[in-house]
Amino acid sequence: MTDIANPSARVRSRRHLGAVSGSAFAALLAGAAGAAQPDPAAQDLVIHAGSVIAVPGERPLGPTTIVVRNERITHILPGHIDGGGATVIDLRDRTVLPGLIDTHVHFSFSPATRLWSAAIDTPEDVAIFSFSNAKKTLEAGFTTVRDVGSDGYAIHALRDAINDGIVTGPRIFLSGTSLSIVGGHGDMSGLNRKTTEALFPYDYTGACTGAVECALRVREAAKYGADLIKITSTGGIMSQQARGLGQHLSDEELNAIVSTAHGLGLKVAAHAHGAQGVTASVRAGVDSIEHGTYLDADTAKMMAARGTWLVPTLGLLDSHDSADTARITPAVAAKMAEARKVSGDNIRLAVRHGVNIAFGTDAGVSPHGENARQFRKMVEQGPMTPMAALRAATVDAAALLGQSDNIGTIAPGKYADMIAVAGDPYRDVTVLEKVAVVIKNGQIVARHPD
Ligand SMILES: [Zn+2]
Repeated sequence: MTDIANPSARVRSRRHLGAVSGSAFAALLAGAAGAAQPDPAAQDLVIHAGSVIAVPGERPLGPTTIVVRNERITHILPGHIDGGGATVIDLRDRTVLPGLIDTHVHFSFSPATRLWSAAIDTPEDVAIFSFSNAKKTLEAGFTTVRDVGSDGYAIHALRDAINDGIVTGPRIFLSGTSLSIVGGHGDMSGLNRKTTEALFPYDYTGACTGAVECALRVREAAKYGADLIKITSTGGIMSQQARGLGQHLSDEELNAIVSTAHGLGLKVAAHAHGAQGVTASVRAGVDSIEHGTYLDADTAKMMAARGTWLVPTLGLLDSHDSADTARITPAVAAKMAEARKVSGDNIRLAVRHGVNIAFGTDAGVSPHGENARQFRKMVEQGPMTPMAALRAATVDAAALLGQSDNIGTIAPGKYADMIAVAGDPYRDVTVLEKVAVVIKNGQIVARHPD
């Protein structure tokens, strides 16, 4: 069977969703008696919540019971009903809300990753520390992520192992290797030619030249299990390529990538800093602009009209110490200094012009597990209301992923991915930085003391 949430995931021995049993439940699930009380069975999970933000952007519910069976939510009922023989989680002094979604992470690296790590770490090493980074992210309340750029197949293996229930982690939607021009942000620069060719042979990287080869790279990514396509339309800050932040992929290459990906049912996420590269990507029809550092008003208007998403990755430069010369080489320092001058302009323009904004941090460049710190930046720099910032990490992020039927709100039929916090995130968005309980697929996966 194919997992609904990851159509590209390898098909192998998947856990089946358990059959619905119990006549009362069956009747309710069939929609026969919406007002009837459920009759929780031993395998169910019953959550007694003090209040529930079921749909971020809408008013919270008061005391509520949420019933979960077989990974999905079956009922949302006012008050606290008897749990019967089910496991009851007492969250009567907590606000329960949908599991958070970060649409821009890189589990395969961290701020500690060095230029020469590629020559030292094995794919097995990468798989193990990717798992550790995924665990930190889930424990921080992020039950779904998009991993937008990694070498090799460690993240593919991690995604599949999580979906199979072999290890615990967030749902992962992944791109694998980023598509890039030769010597671009998604290619490898900074090592000598012999080392580069040994570690990153041309047809293993996502480097491509011309419409035909770029389309081929998209098809290869799809063939080996990508859920989306990530491209680097412009230069990038943290790579050793010293060609600035301007447009890299040509219009012809962008068009070939987007039409091929869309034909295969894959969305395209475009890393883009320089204005010309941002505009060219939007015009080519990419689904999201990642970073969008030099976004201008005309492009913001075009994005709003076309429904192109912005993933603003605020504060991605905050966690880097300029004294760290092993990573912040002169090539990187110059691009950093340039980008810092316009920090926050992207989200201000997006808010002003009504661009769709999805929450994404660039964890990997910033530390894993601190993802929720971006909420306060969105509120301060947008400025966005706490409600809008929360929506960006739930309802809106689910829409960008094409997963609105499965995640992003607390509703019958959706995966039981939820978090509980003390306080009201609509009043103080920083309460999301200290999550009390994390539930994924109806299982408690983390519980943090006050
Ligand atoms: Zn990134």
